[in-house]
Amino acid sequence: MGNATRRTTCRSCRSAEISPVLDLGHTPIANALLSDPDAVDEPRYPLEVAFCRDCALVQILDDVPLFPDDYPYYSSVSDTLLAHSRRHVEGLVETLRLDATSLIVEIASNDGYLLRNAVEMGIPALGIDAAPGPAAAAREIGVETITGFFGREIAREIRAERGPADAMVANNVMAHVPDLNDFVAGFATLLADDGVLTVENPGVEMMIEHGEFDTIYHEHVAYYSCLSVRSLMARHALTLFDVEFFEDLHGGTLRYWVARDRPPTARLEERLRHERALGMDEIAFYDGFGERVASISSELRTLIRRLRAEGATVAAYGAAAKGATMLNTVGLGVEEVEFVVDRSPHKQGMFMPGTHQPILGVDALIERAPDYTVILAWNFADEIVAQQAAYLDRGGRFIVPVPEPKILG
Ligand SMILES: [Zn+2]
Repeated sequence: MGNATRRTTCRSCRSAEISPVLDLGHTPIANALLSDPDAVDEPRYPLEVAFCRDCALVQILDDVPLFPDDYPYYSSVSDTLLAHSRRHVEGLVETLRLDATSLIVEIASNDGYLLRNAVEMGIPALGIDAAPGPAAAAREIGVETITGFFGREIAREIRAERGPADAMVANNVMAHVPDLNDFVAGFATLLADDGVLTVENPGVEMMIEHGEFDTIYHEHVAYYSCLSVRSLMARHALTLFDVEFFEDLHGGTLRYWVARDRPPTARLEERLRHERALGMDEIAFYDGFGERVASISSELRTLIRRLRAEGATVAAYGAAAKGATMLNTVGLGVEEVEFVVDRSPHKQGMFMPGTHQPILGVDALIERAPDYTVILAWNFADEIVAQQAAYLDRGGRFIVPVPEPKILG
């Protein structure tokens, strides 16, 4: 592993007016699950969040060396996400009148969880994903997929070969791209003149207001608002013209609608007014975040240590990046949280980075019957609780960590 590279200018507008707002110390790469917790000396990198006073982008200051093979995330394991994606494709097909002559391109298409819907409807679809495993899984279900990193160069190649894209989708990826401007230049290169791009990411507003600090990790380099997305798109002659808000998806997700030139909707104007009224374009809005995070961390640590002292056993649910940030930042090792369960077979048998809990299948909640289970994947808490009726029937109880640590039921 190489060293982290510290940025001194904004990764979007390149202004030097960036101010730190939260320091989470040195943590391991949140997605780098371990196959043997004793074999390696895990590298740790500084994890610090800053705010750009010029373009309002909230961002990580340090870029760390990453490898696409480190991403074991397969989208198709979440029912909530599958239903959301299907509705999204149906909506695009209807509003843009996509047909067998159109082209829909998805960046970070993963295992084809979204584009499979377009393929079923007879719309030509092309996925791009950097991780070879999920890309191969997508091809297996009939979703044509290029393995690679999206940017200006790959966009040029696709346009030359396939023509411009009528619709583009980039969900939960623009927040993970270190070279933001090359990435957005790719959109501008590939999008048809009357084409539409939608981009989804968890919004920074909910992260700050609800203290969702575990959505912060090295690979998650940027935390967007309408204000910062509008500025980023405008730099590439693209217009943010509409926005949707999904309150229950990943703790509050915004879907940005982007085109070359379309007038802003009333809904977008309203959201921009709302963001300015909150002060999201000023550093004061972000000032109390550090204190809030310290208080949630200390409450959760105290709660779990108390339960352990009383003789209770504690496990956790969700071996995703946010789980790793939560365990590492709060300081919950195997003494506090014995094991982590996850539905993804690709993660089972591995160990959490930094804190080294073994990752087991979800059946372990019944077989090993921990008294308490911390829902690290709290963005899917309703889904998880609904699926675990048997665990609850046997007296197991769930804990959600944010917006404040709480034992459910
Ligand atoms: Zn900036």
